[in-house]
Amino acid sequence: MIRKGEQYKESIRDGREVWVNGERVTDVTAHPMFKPLVDIRARIYDMQHEPATKPVLTYRDEDGNEHAIANKLPATQEDWVAKRRATDAVLDDVAGVVTRVGDETVGEMWSLYDGQDVLNEVDPQFSKNIRTHIDRVLYSDPFHVSANTDPKGDRSKRPQDQDPDMLLHVVKETDAGIIVRGAKYETAAAYANQAFTKPTIANWGDAELSDYAVGFICDLSSPGLKFICRTGFAGRAPAEDYPLANRFDEIDTLLIFDNVLIPWENVLFYRHTRAAQFIRATLHRYSAFAFVQRILRFADMMIGAALFNVRQTGLEKQPAVQEKLATLAVYREGINAHLSAAIAHTERSPGGLLMPNQSLLYTGRVHACSNLPAMMHVARELCGGQICVTPDAAAFRHPETGKWLEKYYSINEHWNAEDRRKLLAFARDLLNSDYAGHRLTFQLFAQSPPFAHLGAVYRNFDFSGPLDFVKKSAGLSDRVAPERKKAAE
Ligand SMILES: Cc1cc2nc3c(=O)[nH]c(=O)nc-3n(C[C@H](O)[C@H](O)[C@H](O)COP(=O)(O)OP(=O)(O)OC[C@H]3O[C@@H](n4cnc5c(N)ncnc54)[C@H](O)[C@@H]3O)c2cc1C
Repeated sequence: MIRKGEQYKESIRDGREVWVNGERVTDVTAHPMFKPLVDIRARIYDMQHEPATKPVLTYRDEDGNEHAIANKLPATQEDWVAKRRATDAVLDDVAGVVTRVGDETVGEMWSLYDGQDVLNEVDPQFSKNIRTHIDRVLYSDPFHVSANTDPKGDRSKRPQDQDPDMLLHVVKETDAGIIVRGAKYETAAAYANQAFTKPTIANWGDAELSDYAVGFICDLSSPGLKFICRTGFAGRAPAEDYPLANRFDEIDTLLIFDNVLIPWENVLFYRHTRAAQFIRATLHRYSAFAFVQRILRFADMMIGAALFNVRQTGLEKQPAVQEKLATLAVYREGINAHLSAAIAHTERSPGGLLMPNQSLLYTGRVHACSNLPAMMHVARELCGGQICVTPDAAAFRHPETGKWLEKYYSINEHWNAEDRRKLLAFARDLLNSDYAGHRLTFQLFAQSPPFAHLGAVYRNFDFSGPLDFVKKSAGLSDRVAPERKKAAE
């Protein structure tokens, strides 16, 4: 029901074909670029068993079976409070921000659970399959990731008019299942167990795309999959100088489907453009919560790094410095307010689950993501130029250079050179390094691009309130009666 870290590690030692930096990886659990994140994922599994953290990360169902809180179908407000608490417990324990570790992606399946009537239009077997998979997640506790984005190629052409594999599609039906070809970008897939694989953003009104309108659970041990990963950050430079890159890099994969058999029981929809449309419109109605929660914790890291720095340098009392710290606090509390209010004003989903308030959640996601670059810049400014000019740890250790660095980086009786070096290295990796830039791009795109975030706001904000107000205030006639906008279904 709840796995242990070692069981998870064993499950991904399955001979999968993983490549990184031109190298064939024989064991992702041992490779230096993957090991840090595999260890964190294993640690989360082990936390589910440890007395101190088990009550926060697990629950017992009515039959007495234990499951992960993260996998629980949300039915009550308390479920959302418990999910938020569990995620915070994990981030506190690992002392950093990891996003794609399962709890942030599993909710995508609940969106399809809400669409069972849409699935039934084609074949009731499909709605049965989604229910089975939601149960299977509860009982087998897999590491579940997300697959949406294809390479796509030339968007001005239909996929049939270029290399048809630019979008993942079905090439054959067999008694055992469907055979698919194509590719998807998937963070963490190389060390995960399964991915909810579904169509990317496209014009699903075109019926000819139906071979491409396919959604399924991909068992990441399946033959025919090739995991071509981008180079990891871990091990590129010393951990002392890049403490976040070496511990928290979540490696992205271009996952190639070279004629992969998807058994019928794993197919969630097929030749069903309306299901593709439905899932694109509702995909993040649950999972955006855990995604945005990570940005709040990232904001905490920026505030902590900036405040420690201005304390070290004696600048905290400057009003202009306090204003910048307050700007960061406003950003952080803006995210906090959206998340808290989204739980306080939950909504019943069409499938009977409890959703975070959709308008508050999606506006919170835009607030968190769109202001992140500016907030990183404020934090960078507060940390000062020393985050990018400070020599590395080796120079602090060397007897010739170390004595000079000791002299110039020792500030007072509270802050010695080593702590100042550590803080500057941390801030550099948070705000300035290659890894920091990667994290920023992750927040920009990993839950679809900004235009899709705004599209979700447009579909879920209730415009009738402002329309009513203006109608009354301007004395407009009843001919312009506002239409009530409701959440996309
Ligand atoms: C670090 C990282 C991790 C990722 N992890 C995952 C993952 O785990 N799973 C997954 O499925 N995907 C993942 N992605 C992929 C991500 O979902 C895509 O990058 C994203 O959906 C954008 O698609 P694209 O890169 O093809 O950009 P494009 O589609 O080429 O879009 C680029 C830009 O073009 C403009 N644009 C394109 N289409 C439109 C439109 N219709 N209307 C208005 N403007 C438009 C926008 O400005 C958009 O930002 C990840 C991406 C990154 C960077």
